[in-house]
Amino acid sequence: MLVVTNRPGDPTTFLDAVRRSVPPGGGLYLPQLEPVGADLDRLLALPFAERSAELLARFIGDEIPKDELRALVHDAFDFPVPLVPLPDGTSVLELFHGPTLAFKDFGARFLARILQWDARRAPASRPRTILTATSGDTGAAVAQAFFGLEGFRVAVLYPAGRVSPLQERQFATLGGNVRAFAVQGSFDDCQALVKGAFADEGLARRHGLTSANSINLARLLAQVAYYFEIAAGRRARDGAPAPVVCVPSGNFGNLCAGLLAARAGLPVRTFVLATNANTTVPEYLDGLAYRPRPSLATLSNAMDVGAPNNWERIEALFGGELRALRSALRWGSLTDDGTLEEIEALYRAGYLADPHTAVAHAVLCARLKPGESGVLLATAHPAKFGGVLRDALGVEVPLPPALAAAAARPLCAEPLGNDPRALAAALDGWS
Ligand SMILES: *Cc1c(COP(=O)(O)O)cnc(C)c1O
Repeated sequence: MLVVTNRPGDPTTFLDAVRRSVPPGGGLYLPQLEPVGADLDRLLALPFAERSAELLARFIGDEIPKDELRALVHDAFDFPVPLVPLPDGTSVLELFHGPTLAFKDFGARFLARILQWDARRAPASRPRTILTATSGDTGAAVAQAFFGLEGFRVAVLYPAGRVSPLQERQFATLGGNVRAFAVQGSFDDCQALVKGAFADEGLARRHGLTSANSINLARLLAQVAYYFEIAAGRRARDGAPAPVVCVPSGNFGNLCAGLLAARAGLPVRTFVLATNANTTVPEYLDGLAYRPRPSLATLSNAMDVGAPNNWERIEALFGGELRALRSALRWGSLTDDGTLEEIEALYRAGYLADPHTAVAHAVLCARLKPGESGVLLATAHPAKFGGVLRDALGVEVPLPPALAAAAARPLCAEPLGNDPRALAAALDGWS
């Protein structure tokens, strides 16, 4: 059952919500998940992909036959999710072992397979176009997830010269059904072009325009599943108390998924949200006004969000009550200087962390109370931020094979003017 954040009791189906991405009347879709209850121990004993398939089948219901959903989840989640203990007693859930080396692979790969399943049932005469704006990681995950999928095209819009060279190679070298448009403008300009294209009804219909951004319900549910790996990885340690879980946050989709996992029965003591200098949410929880603002550029650039688009969902989970939010959560932020210090400290302790993971570790340690055990989510592979680590540590992080292969491919990005007519012409001219 789904509710819409600003209109409680307005249900729709899972597939409708995925196709639409946002409800026609405004607000966001928010799932109400049944608690797993007494089934938790059995679920935790299952391997990751199998458990995720069972969880997603419970959440989604019978809209997709169980065996088909199971095959699709196994195919999407075909990489490891290790829980790595650190010398200080905290543990790291590494979510960066997918093809583009960031946690966004979970959501993008699940979404791609759901849409593909849906398209097979009702084949369209023309391909559907996934249109997405990116500041780096989302474009890579979405482009790779839909690359080569029959019936789909991907158009990635990104600000020319403002994503890292390695990120660019991950989505602007694929060719085939993926086109990358280097827009003369900022990330906000790219997002405005995408919004404008969806608002142009004729264009949206001609190309079956579909969104893959982080408010899509399929991305959110895929992320709920991996939180259960925290409890599964700790099962061996009998009697261990429920952990405090720290989530490095930008648009707050990942934290929202964690809160949903807790409502579905995952044992968690509390969540800590960690941001970089983009402190819209920590300031609000500190008691200041909620003030969305333009983002600041930081070393943990995938969290450079000043107006987080999933915050509305988290507020809705707590009935919009600031007091309830403040008592259910802990929070903190870290500057770039603090991030560099934390990367060094973790390196000395034997762990190579990317800047996003370093922010989470520092904030977690600052918020843990005596006797509590802490887990943080690692959202990107350190090699993705090799430049930062080279400057901070003087070490070269070897590129994993997937990234080395991407780095060696020639770019095939196309320049695009910051103009809705240029985007419409590019889409209409796609043969
Ligand atoms: C997207 C991203 C985040 C932020 O996740 P949200 O769900 O937007 O809060 C954190 N770290 C990395 C590496 C990311 O790519």
